[in-house]
Amino acid sequence: MGEFKGFMKHQRKSQSEEDLKARVSNYEAFQHRFCNEDAQEQGARCMECGTPFCQTGVGVGKETVGCPIGNYIPEWNDLVYKGQFKEAYRRLSETNNFPEFTGNVCPAPCESSCVLSINNDPVAIKGIERTIIDEAFEQGWVEPRTPNHRLDTRIAIIGSGPAGLTAADELNSWGHNVDIYERDIKPGGLLRYGIPNMKLDKDVVERRVELMEAAGVKFICDVNVGKDVTYEELDEKYDAIIVATGARKQRDLKLEGRQSKDIQFAMDYLTEQTQHQFGEIEEPSITAKDKHVIVIGGGDTGADCVAMSLREGCKSVFQLNKYDRLPDKVDGNPFWPLQKQVFKLDYAHAEYEGAFGQEPRAYGVQTMAYDVDFVGDLKGLNTQVLSQQPLNDITMEDQERYFKADLVLLSIGFEGVESELPKAFQLQMTHNKIAADDSDYKTNRRKVFAAGDARRGQSLVVWAIKEGREVARQAHKFAVQNKIYS
Ligand code: FAD
Repeated sequence: MGEFKGFMKHQRKSQSEEDLKARVSNYEAFQHRFCNEDAQEQGARCMECGTPFCQTGVGVGKETVGCPIGNYIPEWNDLVYKGQFKEAYRRLSETNNFPEFTGNVCPAPCESSCVLSINNDPVAIKGIERTIIDEAFEQGWVEPRTPNHRLDTRIAIIGSGPAGLTAADELNSWGHNVDIYERDIKPGGLLRYGIPNMKLDKDVVERRVELMEAAGVKFICDVNVGKDVTYEELDEKYDAIIVATGARKQRDLKLEGRQSKDIQFAMDYLTEQTQHQFGEIEEPSITAKDKHVIVIGGGDTGADCVAMSLREGCKSVFQLNKYDRLPDKVDGNPFWPLQKQVFKLDYAHAEYEGAFGQEPRAYGVQTMAYDVDFVGDLKGLNTQVLSQQPLNDITMEDQERYFKADLVLLSIGFEGVESELPKAFQLQMTHNKIAADDSDYKTNRRKVFAAGDARRGQSLVVWAIKEGREVARQAHKFAVQNKIYS
């Protein structure tokens, strides 16, 4: 595997990025793929580990750190090192339906599990994955997965995010007739309307949708299932139904003044901005242009809001984080690697891009009140500084801090699944998620399966792909058996 002692010979390299000042002037994707030679050199760094933790995971129980979809990472690292890109693509696509999505946006738990990460220089697995798939598209190796035979089964998938797309891709390739119902006017879910173009070029999403259409998947957009189409109608028409509707219910911060139009949810802002960029709406109702923006929430979505506000031309943007900076070490041991990886991703926009002439983030800050004037315009935020001695053990400090703001974007997480469809379908819920066991993905309704964020709560693209693959197997089994015995 790889080059003998290659990891000692070659340094880890990251994919190059557009210059900071240049990239905030547009909405283009700012990270460039490796050239093939760089990818080969990085592949050479993969050593012959006894157990490839990147692929199998490290840890206990279901939530192991490592690749959730079990990508054959050491194998394709080796193939890339040898310059066998086509074979590497073939091997990669055996476990991952959409490496172009994960190659762009995955926080790469595989890299955290790489043995070399002990020295903070893991193999650049994500960059290699992206090179393989980009090369495959450039060389024309990626083709529609058209089935050899069509079955007479029909499967409905509700939601066209990565979970729904993956399930559709699998089921269609096995011969089922697959219809994807989507509430938005275009497919992709958060890949299209959540994750900004700078992180994931929308042409990449469109290209995949077109391939799936060419393979026979039917996209039925602008249809809100549960409202425009009933459970009974789907039950009548389909042999299995998969609910992959995401977990978009946003957490609110209900303090006095919340009703001000200047306090908005992050997702509404991000969605409108993307729709506007692509000509789907004329003017967004929420804009950061010429405003002092405060993003409340230190996660991924908040970081995307910082990036978007900068590109829109805000006067300033500041991200408030309730928690302290994550430490490198806890009690002398390296901090849990996956956390560090996610933390790095959060910073990609917020820390680097926001750092022009201002402090981009504040840590350990709790919002106490919105300062809204008598006509409802936001003036600022009153906050309290928190002191955090051990991890997550928070106490108030007697220190107040005022932040001037014309726009607040709330990005403090998601509460779970929006309730309309589960109600209309009479689906059982557990902790605001659709109840379905991960052994069979079955809900309480016959024929109805659930997967992705709708089942597991807000997560990652790679987990949505994993669930899409697994739910497809279950729905396949059910639909075929049902046909035979009906
Ligand atoms: P979604 O992508 O949410 O798709 C659900 C789809 O169902 C949507 O298209 C929705 O319109 C549709 N739908 C809902 N209800 C109905 C209905 N009644 N009828 C018809 N259609 C319906 N993950 C990463 O790995 N890396 C990242 O960089 C990253 N960045 C993120 C940035 C933001 C701003 C957010 C919010 C999330 C991010 N994530 C990221 C998380 C990731 O996007 C999600 O975990 C993933 O998209 C979940 O996939 P899904 O298919 O389950 O749901």
